[in-house]
Amino acid sequence: MTQPLNRITIVGGGSAGWMTALYLNRYYNQGGHKTHITLVESEDIGTIGVGEATVHSIRFFFAAMGLDEAELMRETGATFKTGIRFRNWKKPVDGKMHEYFHPFEEQRTNGPLDLATSWFSSERPAGERYDQLNCLSSALADAGHSPKSHTSAPYQGLVPYGYHLDAVRLGRYLRRKAVEAGVEHRIGTVDKLELDGERIRAVHCGGVRFESDIFIDCTGFRSLLMRQLKSDNWQSFEDALPCNKAVALQLPYGPEAQPRPYTQATALDHGWVWEIDLQERRGNGYVYDGKRLSRGQAEAELRQYLGVPADMGQALHLDMKIGCLKSFWVGNCIAIGLSGGFIEPLESTGLHLINLSVRLLATHLNGADVAQPVKDSYNRLMNGIYDDLKRFIILHYCLTDRDDTEFWRKAAASAEHSPRLRQDLTLWQHKVCEFMDQAGSYATVFTDENYRFVLYGMGHWPQFAPLGSAQQHQQLRQQCEARTRMALDQTLPHPAALRALN
Ligand code: FAD
Repeated sequence: MTQPLNRITIVGGGSAGWMTALYLNRYYNQGGHKTHITLVESEDIGTIGVGEATVHSIRFFFAAMGLDEAELMRETGATFKTGIRFRNWKKPVDGKMHEYFHPFEEQRTNGPLDLATSWFSSERPAGERYDQLNCLSSALADAGHSPKSHTSAPYQGLVPYGYHLDAVRLGRYLRRKAVEAGVEHRIGTVDKLELDGERIRAVHCGGVRFESDIFIDCTGFRSLLMRQLKSDNWQSFEDALPCNKAVALQLPYGPEAQPRPYTQATALDHGWVWEIDLQERRGNGYVYDGKRLSRGQAEAELRQYLGVPADMGQALHLDMKIGCLKSFWVGNCIAIGLSGGFIEPLESTGLHLINLSVRLLATHLNGADVAQPVKDSYNRLMNGIYDDLKRFIILHYCLTDRDDTEFWRKAAASAEHSPRLRQDLTLWQHKVCEFMDQAGSYATVFTDENYRFVLYGMGHWPQFAPLGSAQQHQQLRQQCEARTRMALDQTLPHPAALRALN
């Protein structure tokens, strides 16, 4: 029989620390044995202060934590997000900027033909994008509609959705909720670890000693505990994904602007810019390859894109470590959040990875002394999740036809860093991408549906003899168009949906 888990100490009070505290406190303290959870955070070292777009799975995390959706959104200045509008990731066609929409939606048909096969087999209006017919979210985004109707229940919409939320306010809100639920909050900067081989006996903060069965490293890119526990534990993904810096700039809305219900990701010369709309401001940031561009050049390029002068707003420059640990769980310490790894924010997966890590940890951490095969399982799963995500992010770059800078010429060759992706891309020249093509992967959030929206948005279309009859295609088209009209009728304009929260 393993010893019961009496005490968990989390070091770090960013989103990772507080999400972990909230979840584990709820998981282990449902009655019966009590596990005491302490979170220690430094007042001198700030949080990263970015990380404001999410994927749709975060709703299930918040719901599972018993958080009220309207309260969460009010407290964090949040808006709804139905997907990402990608712009400029390929050369313009006929003078028009390349664009596609990546929603969170699932595509279901009842008939024998799937939507993708039908779309490729049928006559289509000139210039129609795959997402324009085959998902509702694209039309909602164009119309500036939220995913919600007047009668939508909390955490439910006509289409799946995530949020844009203020990272700093989210941290404060989660902290309040966790402390109310019984998590002990301590302020202190950890300056010493007491080690016994690969076990941490205690951490010290200016003379105060915290002993624990388990330690969770949520210290961000510093990875304070893990770095001291195990050397040679890092795998870099920068060969494949070279964007390793970001510059962020928060700006107020102009008088006419309304928050958009989607994230915008526009490719520039050496990376891409995010635009994330909150209730009261827009967060912008340029994610770029720091080997090709200096900080000053990046900030100037961002400001030029946004059309704002050098003295407007205070830019925040950030270094990013792109990759992940080889072992996320070493001895009695687990790294969650940026301390465990990070893949650039193109698909807004930081908070999602925290959600996944902590859920997986809860089922694996089943006592004070966890058997090595259980730790190995956790490490294998986490590595698989990161590897999958890396492959999906490379997909966004490697299909580009841009050749205007060395950054984009290298991006076009980036599939060479993923043998599986290279193989799949060849396959998908000849057939549609389908569910079973992902067999054996860890597709935890991005499945064949997501691959299709990116593949077809980037023009990687399969060549095959058309299937189905003109009548079948017409019927499917009419069904899709009718669903879109219904969704537009039933959903609220985004500003009205936000007002309804108050
Ligand atoms: P941090 O926020 O850095 O927190 C670290 C904590 O550790 C702090 O509280 C600090 O005080 C504490 N600490 C450090 N050292 C010590 C010490 N010695 N003693 C005690 N405490 C210590 N994610 C998304 O989901 N969506 C996005 O759109 C997104 N965009 C991003 C854009 C950029 C440019 C970057 C870099 C990241 C982005 N992320 C995004 C990721 C997201 O920001 C993080 O996953 C998330 O904020 C969690 O960060 P963290 O808690 O791991 O680290």
